Amino acid sequence: MDQVVKPELLADAAQRAQRYLRGVTARRVSPDIEALERLAELGGPLPDRATADEEILRLLDEVGSPATMASAGGRYFGLVIGGALPVTVAANWLATAWDQNAAMRLTSPVAAQLEDITLEWLKQLFELPGSTGGAFVTGASMASFTALAAARQAILARAGWDAGARGLFGAPPIRVVVGDEVHVTVLKALTLLGFGRDTLVRVPVDGQGRMQADALPALDDRTIVCIQAGNVNTGAFDPAEMICRQTKAAGAWVHVDGAFGMWAACAPRRAHLTAGVPLADSWATDAHKWLNTPYDCGIALVREPEHLRRTMTASAAYLHASDQREASQLNPELSRRARAVEVWAAIRSLGRDGIADLVERTCSHASRLAARLSAAGFAVLNDVVINQVLVAGESDEATDRMIAEIQRDGTCWCGGTTWQGRRAMRVSVSSWATTDEDMEMSFDAMMRLGRAAGALGRSPSLA
Ligand SMILES: *Cc1c(COP(=O)(O)O)cnc(C)c1O
Repeated sequence: MDQVVKPELLADAAQRAQRYLRGVTARRVSPDIEALERLAELGGPLPDRATADEEILRLLDEVGSPATMASAGGRYFGLVIGGALPVTVAANWLATAWDQNAAMRLTSPVAAQLEDITLEWLKQLFELPGSTGGAFVTGASMASFTALAAARQAILARAGWDAGARGLFGAPPIRVVVGDEVHVTVLKALTLLGFGRDTLVRVPVDGQGRMQADALPALDDRTIVCIQAGNVNTGAFDPAEMICRQTKAAGAWVHVDGAFGMWAACAPRRAHLTAGVPLADSWATDAHKWLNTPYDCGIALVREPEHLRRTMTASAAYLHASDQREASQLNPELSRRARAVEVWAAIRSLGRDGIADLVERTCSHASRLAARLSAAGFAVLNDVVINQVLVAGESDEATDRMIAEIQRDGTCWCGGTTWQGRRAMRVSVSSWATTDEDMEMSFDAMMRLGRAAGALGRSPSLA
């Protein structure tokens, strides 16, 4: 091929993407059965011969697009999933054309520079100490894994044990303390790092899922305490200030899972929730949730990045390390996509005010919805402090029926959970794209389907 560019193909992709996004607000949120059935068309025997590029794109769009979850629109409230800001989608296309390997400054000067800049901005947004360094990884799961690997290294080094050289068998024991409501991905990270699930010390939580600071065990400098900023169900924050002060006094390491909750620090009316978070030693957060960048992007942040460097460093004669920040010395991966591109684009385009507005707007949607559902007779199980709402009907069975009806109906999409023994519908408002009209339509659907499912029992007006 004499040219690396196929203009018609890229134009076709752009047009198809635009058509998709133009339709994403009007269509049902979950794909219909017909769309799911058509997915089989993507399969078939391993092709022996080439297929035209145009045909590949056509097939992806005609069969793939209808079978997507419309989380790019404004009425998807499952997990904690943001839409992608338009500028981040555009930046992502350009960066995909660049096809950079962000492993090293040598393989991509621009990726390295964008990581440097973006890390500085993130530190300012979250008010983290100036020394903090970090790594761009796939998500908060890997961010916790990365940061906790540094914690393990630091604690063992302090005990005179070089884990990199001697391994873990026979190493001095490290105690790990988590809240009873610890996120499952932190547990996964801990088990990958060799901390057995059954060896963790679990601290009881209150009705919102917050760790009870006065129930912390005795701490010492061989302890890692994992706290969270933003419970995945309630949105509640562990009392970071109290916990960090106790923990620091004992010389222990505090890790914060702030997958989405860290971003509350950016909104003046919510920032009090993150008080004390900057006192920790490491943090995990996501850009693909509340900052609304495309998948995938999480960030591991470590107060003393030297610990991260000692943990992740890998040298070989053919890998050139400059004396500046080198991602490959801080990341678990070598080759990586340049995911700081979209983070840079989002922060640069929104600015501090725009991020504050995004956080505040989604929180307001959540609290207004909670107030209306509660007035209509639903039980709201959590204090709606940020963007998460837990809604329950008359009985667990009715709540589950309502969730199933909502998912089938397609006006909006909500998942289910069990909160302290009771079934609940989770509503997570995390997208820049959610409008007042989206919330109105979703509220109407919840009322209609909640009633049909018997989640409201007798109508309150008849009571
Ligand atoms: C989403 C989430 C995670 C995991 O993040 P991924 O980006 O999916 O890896 C961890 N902790 C909390 C509190 C979350 O909400």
